[in-house]
Amino acid sequence: MRYPAENGCQAARVCTKAGRAMRLPACGSPTVPGVITSRACPYYGARWLLAPVKETLHLVHGPVGCAYYGQTVRRKSYRILSTALDEKDVVFGGDTKLVRAVREALRLFPDARAVFVYGCCVAGLTGADLAGICRLATRATGRTVVPVSCAGFGGASQGDGHDLAADVLVRFLVGRTSPAAPASYTVNLLGEFDVAGDLQEIKMLLNQLGVSVLCTFTGEASVTSLGYAHAAALNLVHCQRTGGSLAEAMTKAFGTPALKVNFFGFAATAASLRAVAAHFGREEAAEQIIRAAETRVEPVLAELRRHLAGRRVGLYFGGSRVGSMAAAYRELGMEVVWAGAQFGQQEDYAAAWPDVADGGVLLDDARQFEIEKFLCQAQPDLFVGGVRERFLAYKYGVPFTVFPQEGKPYAGFTGFINFAQDIWRAVASPVWRLVHSQ
Ligand code: SF4
Repeated sequence: MRYPAENGCQAARVCTKAGRAMRLPACGSPTVPGVITSRACPYYGARWLLAPVKETLHLVHGPVGCAYYGQTVRRKSYRILSTALDEKDVVFGGDTKLVRAVREALRLFPDARAVFVYGCCVAGLTGADLAGICRLATRATGRTVVPVSCAGFGGASQGDGHDLAADVLVRFLVGRTSPAAPASYTVNLLGEFDVAGDLQEIKMLLNQLGVSVLCTFTGEASVTSLGYAHAAALNLVHCQRTGGSLAEAMTKAFGTPALKVNFFGFAATAASLRAVAAHFGREEAAEQIIRAAETRVEPVLAELRRHLAGRRVGLYFGGSRVGSMAAAYRELGMEVVWAGAQFGQQEDYAAAWPDVADGGVLLDDARQFEIEKFLCQAQPDLFVGGVRERFLAYKYGVPFTVFPQEGKPYAGFTGFINFAQDIWRAVASPVWRLVHSQ
């Protein structure tokens, strides 16, 4: 499939896999203005990472629309407040309003132990002194008031917001207290957001290994657990785009080693368990867990593989999951013919490359018309994307599954069965026979 030229030349953010030489899409650059992209701004990226942190308040210093936009993250709503900046504040400055808002927020919610103050585009344009005001507010209230300078125009995508949110977590909240119990055989999970029970599956496998999770960044994080997270013996990076910069910052600040893991797919889960076990000297326990899972899971998977093998799938994810998930579809015998991400990095596409079929496409920041073109011309057996892509796929009569998923966990050995069953249900639905017979 050919894609139109962008600014007069073939878009380098689109690559076709041909032969053995690895060619990766260019990424990390801003979207061309006017193009319909599914990216979000750095402010939303910061919300994505910080929203689940318990015992906190979220105060958005910007027009009320920014707060409304950032209220729902991963289909959950969070406690969020706004300074509701307007024209008057643009002319005369909104700093006084922010000081008043921090005080009022803490009066209304006295249980909050920390406040994240998000500086949006308007605050960035007027040059609000976010760091100074937060420093003064911390002294005046005795609570941690954290400046998050995440103006939407300050980065190419939400990926930049993840990086700066990781930075403020480590600078302001991690390492403030000590854990109650000794922290050997403990890990932190970085870049895990507890979607549909994934976290419970991962924790169960780690517990079977004799390893416990001290803090999950940020699906199950709180001011308390972040405070002692520095005491963990190892950081497990489950999502490179949201966890990678956290791991780097924690290694720099506290010397905590990091290990990249992936709990999607049987092979990846087994490899990750073996790697964690090797770190803690628990290799025998890992082999026992994997053998037991093989006996239980393999017969079901073999049957599903029989139905799914050879089917063509297109993937369009947020960031780094494109690499880890491509391997999971391939493990089911499916052919990955299209793999894209909204804000992937070179290493994400490099991870996906071996699992993309020859002649398949890798692309960064897909435009809506490119997704439509793929669905319409390639007619894959399955398209996997976010909620925004769901109805586009249906419109072209293509079976669709959403990722991150909405129902059961996909992580771990049992999760891989759920994952394969969901695919088979979508692909085998009788509705597609009706659609294609019209
Ligand atoms: S781009 Fe700017 S104005 Fe729009 S939501 Fe993001 S921070 Fe707010």
